[in-house]
Amino acid sequence: MPTTKVYNWKRSIAYDANSVEKVSSVEDIQRIVRDPGRYPSPVRVRGSHHSTTRCVVAEGGTVIDMLGMNRILAIDKAAKTITMEAGVLHIDAAKALEKEGLQFYVNCEIGNLTVGSGACGGTKDASYYADDQWEYGQVASYCIGMKAVQADGSILEVTEEGDPELMAALRSSYGMLGIIYEVTFRVKDLRAMAVEHEVLHVDDFAAKLNALITDNRSMMLYLFPFLDKVVVEYRYDRPGVEVESGSWQWAVRNYTWKSLWPFISKTLHYAVPIRRVRFAMIDGLNNLTGAVMRRLIRDRNSSPADQIIRYPEMAGYASYTFSIWAFPRADYAQSIKDYYAFCKEYDRLNHFRCDMLNVGYHIAQDRQSLFSYTRHGPALTLDPVATGLPGWEAFLIAYNQWCANHNGTPLFNQSGSLEPYQVQRAFGEEIRIFLGYRERMDPQDRFYTAFFKRLFEEGVERLEPRRAA
Ligand SMILES: Cc1cc2nc3c(=O)[nH]c(=O)nc-3n(C[C@H](O)[C@H](O)[C@H](O)COP(=O)(O)OP(=O)(O)OC[C@H]3O[C@@H](n4cnc5c(N)ncnc54)[C@H](O)[C@@H]3O)c2cc1C
Repeated sequence: MPTTKVYNWKRSIAYDANSVEKVSSVEDIQRIVRDPGRYPSPVRVRGSHHSTTRCVVAEGGTVIDMLGMNRILAIDKAAKTITMEAGVLHIDAAKALEKEGLQFYVNCEIGNLTVGSGACGGTKDASYYADDQWEYGQVASYCIGMKAVQADGSILEVTEEGDPELMAALRSSYGMLGIIYEVTFRVKDLRAMAVEHEVLHVDDFAAKLNALITDNRSMMLYLFPFLDKVVVEYRYDRPGVEVESGSWQWAVRNYTWKSLWPFISKTLHYAVPIRRVRFAMIDGLNNLTGAVMRRLIRDRNSSPADQIIRYPEMAGYASYTFSIWAFPRADYAQSIKDYYAFCKEYDRLNHFRCDMLNVGYHIAQDRQSLFSYTRHGPALTLDPVATGLPGWEAFLIAYNQWCANHNGTPLFNQSGSLEPYQVQRAFGEEIRIFLGYRERMDPQDRFYTAFFKRLFEEGVERLEPRRAA
C-alpha cells in the first residue's frame, strides 16, 4: 500500500500517512470521517504543522489538510467577534481585524498558526494587562464558539455560553474530540501598544520579579544563561494614542529573531569548529543584542499585529526550534536561577548548550482550557531555543527531567520528547476528565493517536502529586 511521507515544519518529525486529503468544505470532512475503509484511522488535521512534537503524527492514518479552508466568514464590530474557517492563518486574521479597528486579545508571534489549531491546542504569549486586569495568554481562551465534525460524521456546535465545560475540553482537544472546521473568537478594540526593553542581571531580576509584575505590563523574557542576564520586553497599552501600523522596530526585532540569529548561530557552527571560540563569539553577540534591544527597540504606538511573524512554509537553513515548560510564579525567582545553573552544568558535562538565546513569558492564571498550563495559578516559562544541531534531542530529555522536578507543566504540541509520567504528574485529574469526554465522543478511536494514548494512559502515576501553585 503506497503511503505519503509527511513532515513537520522543521522536518524534525516525519511519518507515513495513508493519504493527505485537501478539503474545502465541511462535506469533504464528513465524507472522510464516515468512511474508515477508504480513509483509515487516525484521522488528523494538518494545520501548518509548526508543532515541535509528535502530536501531529497520523501514522498509517488520514491527514486532513485544512489550509484550503481559509475564509474569514464574519467580523462583527458591534459584538466584537470574528468567525473563520479553521485553516485561516493567525497573521491574516490579525491583519483583517486591524483594518476594522479591532485586534485579537492574544497576538502570538507565530503568524502561521492556523486558527483551528489555536482554538484546540497549546499556545503561548505574555499576558497583556488592559482595562485594570490581566488578560489570558493563550489563544484558545478567547475562542467562544466552535463547529466540529464528530467521529460519526455528525456536526457538533458548541459555545462558551452554552456549555463551558465541553468548551474547556475542546480548547485542549488537539482534534481528539472532533475535526474543528469553524471557530469564533472574542476580539477587542485596536489600541496603540508601547514596547521597550530592560537588561538585568538574573539575580536582580529574581529579586525584583514581584515588583515587576505589580507594574502591570506584559513581560516576555529573553534569557542568557551563560551571561547571567535577562532582557525583559515590556508591552503596554497607550489609550488615546493613534496606532501606527508597520512599526520598523517590530520588523527589526522579528527579522533578527526569525532569520538573522539562526543564520549566524548555524554558520558559526560550521565556520568556527573550536567550541570555546565559537561560544565566546555567540556570547559577544548576545551582549550586543541586549544593548541594541534596550537602546533601539522601543516604540510608543505600534499595532499589536506588527509583532506577528509570517514564517516560510517549511523551515530553511536559518531556522530554530525550541521547547517550553511553565513554572509557578511563586517559585520562578528560584526556578530561573536553577535553570541557569542547570544549563551551565549540562554544558560542563555534555559539551552542549543552546546556540540561540532562550525565552520566557509571564502568563496569567487561566482555567479556560482543560490542559491550560496556568490552570492552577499564574506562571512564567523557561523555553530553550536552538538551531537544532546534534545534541539538542539529548538536551531536551535532561531538560524535561529537570522541569518535571521543578513542578513544571508542559504543552503537548510544544514540549518535545515528553514521558508519560511527566504529563500525568502535571495533569493527572485533567487527563481523567478529558478521557471521559474522549471515550464518550470517540468510542472507536477514530481520532486517537498512539502519541496521546501513551502520554495519557501508559503506566500509572506513582509520583508525588503536584504541589499547589
Ligand atoms: C518557528 C516557530 C515559532 C513558534 N512560535 C510560537 C509562538 O510564538 N507562540 C505559540 O504559541 N506557538 C509557537 N509555535 C508553536 C505553534 O504555534 C504550535 O505548535 C501550533 O499548534 C502550530 O499550529 P499549526 O496550525 O501549525 O498546527 P499543527 O502543528 O499542524 O497541528 C497541531 C495539533 O492540532 C491538531 N489540529 C490542528 N488544527 C486542527 C483542527 N482544525 N481540528 C482539529 N485538530 C486540529 C493537529 O492534528 C495537531 O495535533 C512556534 C512554532 C515554530 C516552529
